[in-house]
Amino acid sequence: MLDALIVGAGPSGSYLGHLLSEKGFNVKILEEHREVGRPVECTGLVSERVFKMAHSRSKVNSVSGANVFFPNGKSIHIAKGEKTIVMDRDQFDKDVAAMAISSGSDFSIHSKAIAAKVGEDAATVTYREDGEKKEIKASMVIGADGINSVVRKDLFSTRPGRIISCYQVDSAAELEDQDSVNVYVGSDSSSGFFGWATPSGKLTRIGVGSYHSPAYRYFLKINERFGKDKIVGINGGSIPVKYLKRTYGDRALLVGDAAGIVKPLSGGGIYTGMVSSVHAAKAIESAFDAENFSAKHLSAYQKAWKHELGRELWFDGMIHRLFGGISDRKFNALYDVLATPESIDIINGTGDIDYPSRVVISLFLKRPRLVSRMLFTR
Ligand SMILES: Cc1cc2nc3c(=O)[nH]c(=O)nc-3n(C[C@H](O)[C@H](O)[C@H](O)COP(=O)(O)OP(=O)(O)OC[C@H]3O[C@@H](n4cnc5c(N)ncnc54)[C@H](O)[C@@H]3O)c2cc1C
Repeated sequence: MLDALIVGAGPSGSYLGHLLSEKGFNVKILEEHREVGRPVECTGLVSERVFKMAHSRSKVNSVSGANVFFPNGKSIHIAKGEKTIVMDRDQFDKDVAAMAISSGSDFSIHSKAIAAKVGEDAATVTYREDGEKKEIKASMVIGADGINSVVRKDLFSTRPGRIISCYQVDSAAELEDQDSVNVYVGSDSSSGFFGWATPSGKLTRIGVGSYHSPAYRYFLKINERFGKDKIVGINGGSIPVKYLKRTYGDRALLVGDAAGIVKPLSGGGIYTGMVSSVHAAKAIESAFDAENFSAKHLSAYQKAWKHELGRELWFDGMIHRLFGGISDRKFNALYDVLATPESIDIINGTGDIDYPSRVVISLFLKRPRLVSRMLFTR
């Protein structure tokens, strides 16, 4: 019998496979698609921290700043010393999968999990490999199967609480400023989230996330700047921005998007997913040491990832909801406070892509006018 069966070969699943195989566990990873990394549903912006965890040759650019465009047509430029990496997400997923395989994980592509159950002695997953129905048993099953997780549906009977739907294209339109991401806020650009244009080597990734209504209509507006005839690829996807109340069960854990362990403010989930995998690997090792695969014993997993990320995700979620419904007038009033050297200094000093709430909290504390604008502008 396998020690651990991981469903899903995204960054969270493959990284967990790598960590467990390195510790000597007998691991298998199922991936539903014929090719790891495809289809791409990501902008590929990550911090250096991610590249410290994964050895990858997928970097295509790096940026040190952002131009934030407000409804009044004006923008502010923010920048920090540390670079944010823009990567080729397809290549990144393949590189992390290669890490898992070279550490000893067994890999099955074109293998779609269709059902999961947990018994006294084992977890059982039914899957289709190249169309053929198969069953496999393992001491532990881990759902790393993203937003529509089968493991979550069958073993946790729950769904992500809040979902951002996205529409994104690869465009041949070149951004003048190759060192900054463009961010678009306001009612023309999104409903409850934001739009973006990211310089990604020869291409620009232009996209929109939206909470309340379809992202496509906002995308059309943003893309007027760049041109329909420059689009060379369309992708999209959805982002779960509220983590589950329980991410562990008897013989089962959920990591990454399957558990909703994603930053609600930015929608970034690669770093947080991989961090959840670090804690999952430790919890699984402890379960084997204690020969105890009960939910009670595995609850240490949730305590550990929450200890590292919970505060950030909680603040992020709160700020995401606070900014989600604000009017254009309010955004423009915020612009007036933010477009000052003092505010820009605060943003540049505290900005961190993995901990985005820090900059908002610093601004609220050091620029009280921001609070009054939030409260008193309609
Ligand atoms: C448009 C868009 C832009 C984004 N941009 C960024 C960004 O710039 N930076 C960032 O950090 N995050 C970004 N994200 C979020 C990021 O893509 C996810 O948080 C991240 O992919 C989560 O990794 P994961 O391994 O948990 O899940 P996933 O990457 O979703 O991987 C799940 C894997 O499981 C497989 N799978 C699913 N179901 C089954 C099944 N039944 N059987 C077998 N295999 C299965 C899937 O094929 C997939 O390979 C973006 C998301 C979107 C939609």
